[in-house]
Amino acid sequence: MTFKELGLSEAILKSLIELGHNKPTLIQELAIPHILQKKDVLGCAQTGTGKTAAFVLPAIQSLMMNERSAYRNIKVLVLSPTRELAIQTRDNFRRYGMYTNLKCGVVLGGVNQRSQVETLRKGIDILVATPGRLLDLMNQRIVKLNSINTLVLDEADTMLDMGFIHDIKKIVAHVPEIRQTLMFSATMPNTIRNLAKEFLKAPVLIEANTTSLTVDKINQSVYFVDSRNKANLLLEILHSEKTTSTLIFTRTKHGANKLADILEKNDLHNEVIHGNKSQRARVSALNNFKSGRSKVLIATDIAARGIDIVELSQVINYELPNLAESYVHRIGRTGRAGCVGTAISFCDRSETKYLSTIQKLIKQSIMVVEDHNYPMEQIAFKEQKKQAFSNRTSPKNSNRKFKSQTKKTKFQKNI
Ligand code: AMP
Repeated sequence: MTFKELGLSEAILKSLIELGHNKPTLIQELAIPHILQKKDVLGCAQTGTGKTAAFVLPAIQSLMMNERSAYRNIKVLVLSPTRELAIQTRDNFRRYGMYTNLKCGVVLGGVNQRSQVETLRKGIDILVATPGRLLDLMNQRIVKLNSINTLVLDEADTMLDMGFIHDIKKIVAHVPEIRQTLMFSATMPNTIRNLAKEFLKAPVLIEANTTSLTVDKINQSVYFVDSRNKANLLLEILHSEKTTSTLIFTRTKHGANKLADILEKNDLHNEVIHGNKSQRARVSALNNFKSGRSKVLIATDIAARGIDIVELSQVINYELPNLAESYVHRIGRTGRAGCVGTAISFCDRSETKYLSTIQKLIKQSIMVVEDHNYPMEQIAFKEQKKQAFSNRTSPKNSNRKFKSQTKKTKFQKNI
């Protein structure tokens, strides 16, 4: 299947060639025809599968085909959970629409609203927004949603996790009933299915990535290590691996800051993003990481959702997430668009229960690295480890062991 066979116009095909997108990804191949036919779509796909273009391309196509009115008004609204994702999606509209006259704007919190209001006043066809700021601007009567004909709820599961449900309901109440609604979510729990029943009409369900499909192309491994030794082990890995860029996850903002200090003291310059950082700081951290100025980015789950970093060589779960789905979100940052990625997880005694649920979700056992310099003290631990590997449903890989690539030499560490 080619993009041309999907029925996309010359202007879009030209931009795709320029961007080096040779053929549609699975989600694009499955979703675009239905979206072009104006059907509602519920898409199960996470970032990294090409799901943004799956809705951006047909949205641009429909906008181009519609007669443009004398002045611009918002016809496509995309709701995004995070500011980073909103900016990325706006950039996608601009890139794929570079040979059209369409205008796309973004509204998001954490920054002064002045320039966003200015963009709205000048007139745009597409608006990408985070729910809080959009509601704010609606309440100030700065933005009107009465001309929208396509509504996209992107990363719906993250929006629910972040507690946006009430804001979303208030926003959707102002969007015309007669519209096309597209909803994308990395996971499909009942809460998402219920939301889909409320907002979508006879949706086509598209499952382009099952969880195991997404994680299959990523080399995953786990190190059992006491929490007090995690920083030492991390330093050893970061010093020994020839990686171009590493994204490290912690569970808490405090944990992220603490780890950042340890790495800095050990000459590992790094960036940190979490919810307490200002929008400006988050954008600058992300830019430094994306441009390669900093090789290490430390992030909490929510801050990192949806961010698209090309050539991210590895993800390290310094702390395992307490929600198994977050593991899939996290490691999905690597191994994108066909590249092979690496995901390393540290698991201390208190985290074996998380590891067990993760393995059930991904339906495979994660390879254990036993040969490293900070093995866990064995007392009482064997039992916990057994627990982490029990009750798995049809594991694909046996509990394989492989040799650590960390050198045996110890580094001078400042912790
Ligand atoms: P997404 O899942 O939307 O976050 O996209 C992940 C990455 O895949 C982005 O860097 C896109 O630019 C890229 N991408 C999207 N569609 C294609 C395609 N058909 N061919 C190659 N790369 C793509």
